[in-house]
Amino acid sequence: MTWDFETEPEFEAKLEWMRGFVREEIFPLETLHLDFQTFLKVAAPLMQQVKDQGLWAAHLGPDLGGQGYGQVKLGLMHEILGMCEYAPPIFGNQAPDSGNSELIALAATPEQRKQWLEPLLAGQIYSAFSMTEQGTGADPTQFTTSAVLDGDEWVINGTKWFVSNADRADLHVLMAVTDPDEHRHRRASMLLVPADTPGISLRRIGSMNDPYPVPSMHTQAEVTYTDVRIPAESILGKRGQAFELAQERLGPGRIHHCMRWVGVCRRAFDALCERAVSKSLHGSLLADKQTVQNWVADSAAAIESARLLTLHAAWKIDQVGARAAAREIAMIKYYGAPIMHDVIDRALQIHGSLGYSTDLPLEHLYRWARASRIYDGPDEVHRMVVARGILREYEPRDIPSEHIPTRHAAALEKYGHLLSD
Ligand SMILES: Cc1cc2nc3c(=O)[nH]c(=O)nc-3n(C[C@H](O)[C@H](O)[C@H](O)COP(=O)(O)OP(=O)(O)OC[C@H]3O[C@@H](n4cnc5c(N)ncnc54)[C@H](O)[C@@H]3O)c2cc1C
Repeated sequence: MTWDFETEPEFEAKLEWMRGFVREEIFPLETLHLDFQTFLKVAAPLMQQVKDQGLWAAHLGPDLGGQGYGQVKLGLMHEILGMCEYAPPIFGNQAPDSGNSELIALAATPEQRKQWLEPLLAGQIYSAFSMTEQGTGADPTQFTTSAVLDGDEWVINGTKWFVSNADRADLHVLMAVTDPDEHRHRRASMLLVPADTPGISLRRIGSMNDPYPVPSMHTQAEVTYTDVRIPAESILGKRGQAFELAQERLGPGRIHHCMRWVGVCRRAFDALCERAVSKSLHGSLLADKQTVQNWVADSAAAIESARLLTLHAAWKIDQVGARAAAREIAMIKYYGAPIMHDVIDRALQIHGSLGYSTDLPLEHLYRWARASRIYDGPDEVHRMVVARGILREYEPRDIPSEHIPTRHAAALEKYGHLLSD
């Protein structure tokens, strides 16, 4: 399979270095089943190598110590990082910290940048994005967690759900209702809440990917805020701007997610093909069976189409910004997630019980992939957004514009005089 969308030779050389580094140095970590604190110890020298290559926290611009690569190049990097869950943190580019640092870079005051952004980028602290409320994540206009101004402090009350990595976070980027009487998209604000503020409590939630209490790299928690007091200047951006900021944050982040999924697909696809050419059953190689050939052909076409669609969305962000590329960004989310699921499913199937076992990474990838149809907004919501936008471009008509008799009459009127002798 070809993997084009080439960039200049210097950047291609960096991607090549990343491919080798991720395979040779990071893949082996998967077998150690590390919790996050042990991971940090083991990964420290690898992080240094990434910094030496100038590839650390590449999602940010040069003024913030990143490279200012733009979304296409970042997408190409994430395609490689996505092949292993340990790779993004080793490149200082893991969710939710990367999205949070982009958001803080976008909207923070100089004081907030100094307090939170610099240590976040240096990998000295970690953050959580505290937005979803149980049962209403798909419709944030229903959120109720509130922040009320009392003198020079916000007082926060409410419960957030499925907050990733809250148990290791030093900072919560919190979405709370500050102006309940405003328009539904201007009711909420983003707040920067230190995780050790009194009144915050966590409950770890187990999941398909994190069968708590087994150690895991990625955890989720329910976070309850009870009379949590933070200074009034802890607001990020303007009052009532949370929806706008959430969109800014999630747009480029989706490109990274979707390109990581392409990386996952590629890894599963390699496993599928390797098995196909290695194993004979019922008198011939699996590679010679039509079913397996269909899996290979369908997977190759699906991966290539998801990749091109995602890189096109990345290109559009680079050209016209995330807001103008909203349709393309929504499309790749619901298009790419099921492709990843199906490719892993086929790779797992061709390995039989070995694929289902923990002796191969496929069962883990499969469980991890299932979440992709839910997080960052369920696929159904993105489909709705895309379909509504498209349908708004059409006018209702009593007679379909393709109606042959009507078109025939119009054609006769236009060309009829040429038909007669
Ligand atoms: C692994 C993982 C990590 C996450 N990390 C974070 C995090 O760090 N921070 C955070 O704030 N949140 C996080 N989330 C939460 C995630 O953003 C929400 O799960 C998601 O937005 C959906 O919200 P919900 O789970 O409340 O689903 P609900 O709002 O309860 O929706 C349930 C289902 O209803 C259906 N549905 C909803 N709307 C429509 C519609 N218009 N048309 C048709 N069907 C519809 C969909 O099938 C949807 O899955 C994470 C989730 C997962 C799985």
